[in-house]
Amino acid sequence: MVISKKLQDLDLQAKTDLKEVFDSFEEIAFINTQRVLEQFQKNRVSESMFASSTGYGYGDAGRDALDNIFAGAFESEAAFARHNIVNGTQAISIALFGVLRPGDVLLSITGSPYDTLSEVIGNKTKNGDGSLADFGIDYDEVPLKDGDIDYSSVEEKVKKYGKRVKMLYIQRSKGYENRPTFSSEKIGEIVSFCHKISDACVFVDNCYGEFCDEHEPTYYGADLMAGSLIKNPGGGIAKTGGYVAGKKRYVELASYRLTTVGIGLECGATLDEKRDMYRGFFLAPHVVCQAKKTAAYASYIFTKLGFETYPSYTEQRHDIIQTVVLRSPEKLCAFCEGIQSSSPVDSFVTPEPWDMPGYADKVIMAAGTFISGASIELSADGPMREPYIAYFQGGLTYESGRLSILNTAEKLL
Ligand SMILES: *Cc1c(COP(=O)(O)O)cnc(C)c1O
Repeated sequence: MVISKKLQDLDLQAKTDLKEVFDSFEEIAFINTQRVLEQFQKNRVSESMFASSTGYGYGDAGRDALDNIFAGAFESEAAFARHNIVNGTQAISIALFGVLRPGDVLLSITGSPYDTLSEVIGNKTKNGDGSLADFGIDYDEVPLKDGDIDYSSVEEKVKKYGKRVKMLYIQRSKGYENRPTFSSEKIGEIVSFCHKISDACVFVDNCYGEFCDEHEPTYYGADLMAGSLIKNPGGGIAKTGGYVAGKKRYVELASYRLTTVGIGLECGATLDEKRDMYRGFFLAPHVVCQAKKTAAYASYIFTKLGFETYPSYTEQRHDIIQTVVLRSPEKLCAFCEGIQSSSPVDSFVTPEPWDMPGYADKVIMAAGTFISGASIELSADGPMREPYIAYFQGGLTYESGRLSILNTAEKLL
């Protein structure tokens, strides 16, 4: 890899200019590591807990302890983490179907949820697949206003539907939208508002947010949240899976959707996955910090090269996503090619835009990862639509992230 003089100079300058923000990221990782480690100790984790269980998985003490560790680290009443939740969409789905009943209204207050949720929510004209709409659960949304919650419109909608509103839905991370990500603390304020005007369950799609702030939304009062283990809380080690955390009753309801009513968390063989889930969760605060450093570094380099980037490299980060506005399909493809070619796995592959299940536009993805599609590992993706934004996230180590950004910048130049 040949790095031009211009980039070498920027790389050197980044060391000084990013020092302060890196220090703050490391402090957050320290605080989160402390809380996770305390939970390991409190739950008396021992090697025997990593042993696999099969069949019904009755009496799997390691599975139960891991659930408690998730609950404790997220400062929530209860939680479960399972390798057989296939992705974040399913984890969220489990929470929605667990809590909502026919006649209820699901009200999203952060605009449209992440693309893959639209089929879960469904609509009245396309029946038969078993979406929420199929089960008579109505959906409505309040778009963000100037990047913030439109409080008066939320209040209006809550008045309009009355007691039928059983869940208020918040997405923490920007996802594929060009909008700010909400901090856990900010979500806390939103949750307080929600609890004032409604007794609905306040749910948070926590994907990409875990361990970015000192606390999770559940600490600030969110009733239920869910996320993916091939993102932040898997620490790059968990091979697959998802989690749900929150108030005891809501987690219990979700657990009946995970397995079945009457069984809940009593069953579920963990096969050989627990050691990776434990180790991944232990590493997660550190790995998230590596990803945040990589993101801030990318923002720095691409800003200096004249691109718009969000968030800026000076800002605190509440998720691991970095966006770079590329403004042309060619540049978006070149960006993804740059990331792909500097990956440890599949570096020789050229990414191409394709129709992904669950997404409206074609999406181009770069992911040279040890775990297929894991976005806590360095990966970039972007829907092929204006203004051609690369959503960039992950990085198991800052060193490899830095190398990758340099390589990608060189390609774009
Ligand atoms: C990743 C993500 C999801 C879930 O996506 P999966 O690919 O199913 O894991 C949901 N919401 C947000 C904001 C996400 O980033």
